[in-house]
Amino acid sequence: MSIYLDYQAAKPVDERVIEEMLPYFNKRYANPSSLHGDGDIATDTLKKARQKVADFINAPKADSILFTSGATESNNLALIGSALRNKKKGDHIIISEIEHITILNIGKFLEKQGFKVSRVPVDRFGIINIEKLKRLINERTILISISTASNEIGSLQPIEEISDIASEKKVLFHTDAVASEAVIPIDVQKVPIDLITLSSNDIYGPRGVGALYLKKGVRVNPILIGGGQERGMRSGSENMTGIVGFAKAAEIMKKEIKDEAARINLLRDKLIGGILESIPKSYLNGHPEKRLPNNAHFRFEYIEGESLILSLRDQNVSAATGSACSSKTLEPSHTLIATGLLHEEAHGSLLYTLGRFTTESDIDTAIEVLPGIIKRLRILSPLTPLDLLKKYQEAEK
Ligand code: PMP
Repeated sequence: MSIYLDYQAAKPVDERVIEEMLPYFNKRYANPSSLHGDGDIATDTLKKARQKVADFINAPKADSILFTSGATESNNLALIGSALRNKKKGDHIIISEIEHITILNIGKFLEKQGFKVSRVPVDRFGIINIEKLKRLINERTILISISTASNEIGSLQPIEEISDIASEKKVLFHTDAVASEAVIPIDVQKVPIDLITLSSNDIYGPRGVGALYLKKGVRVNPILIGGGQERGMRSGSENMTGIVGFAKAAEIMKKEIKDEAARINLLRDKLIGGILESIPKSYLNGHPEKRLPNNAHFRFEYIEGESLILSLRDQNVSAATGSACSSKTLEPSHTLIATGLLHEEAHGSLLYTLGRFTTESDIDTAIEVLPGIIKRLRILSPLTPLDLLKKYQEAEK
């Protein structure tokens, strides 16, 4: 296995979670909707799992959690479900310019359905402009959807402030907490957000399961129509194996998040320091402090991100240029462009994301291999200026 520094794209399932899930494949497989005894046991299992996910975000009531198939579905349900439910009140939705591609594309879909979508700009660190957000709200606004943190450059949004503004204006506030949920505790009793997208794999649970939290009194129209499970808001037989795993992952994460985030933060700081010190013309994207503790997003002049990833791959280091969900497009990252970078600057990026199983030796190797790779690519690049090439040559003498 490589040195894996792409935790934002996928995380391994924790062994403790796998152990908890195993009986639910072939021993406790009943459907909670069944009327027999095994069905009752499944209903009880589902109730306990819901409670654990609710506890993870300090939600007072278990039924505020709706299980879904993952973050994409939760985001769809949050935005489309709220838009449909509230269309008599208004037709205006606010997102930010640097949302995850799911939210951006749901925004485009809603525009085609006749809704109006505004995109709040961000500053050069990728943090939204609060004053502009306030000015965008009007009497037709029904929902604000802004992620807790950028899944790409790690910048943390002022969600407490956004939540206050939204509740003062009587507008719903949804946040996609997928990028932050493994490193920043969520407490809905402290910050009363209306809707929150959660994903199981992002806290070391299985894929194919997620949740949408709905504050008391908040409802969405269903986007999957069927048997009326999940209080009628999300039909489909419950993915019990996945839900049991998600709940175990949430229970572990709640206990371990503070220590784990502190450990990862130290490693991340070592990584950032090591790389910026050893590589000329290297920069950190995103905010230096207001950023996810597991995120290190760099930019290197005269480098093309894809060739960097391929060279790292040869050295057995797994990294990304940005969001995995957008990596198949050749366009530069919309997030970096929104922070004011030029296309050519946005192309030279590298995203390292750390996680539960990252070791200090992984970080040491990552710091060690990169300067040589960057130097080799720069020597090959027609864009590298002569003075930098000379510096490299002198260093070799
Ligand atoms: N939101 C964010 C912030 C993400 O990073 C992702 C991808 N992990 C998603 C939503 C979509 O998640 P999924 O592909 O698991 O549905």
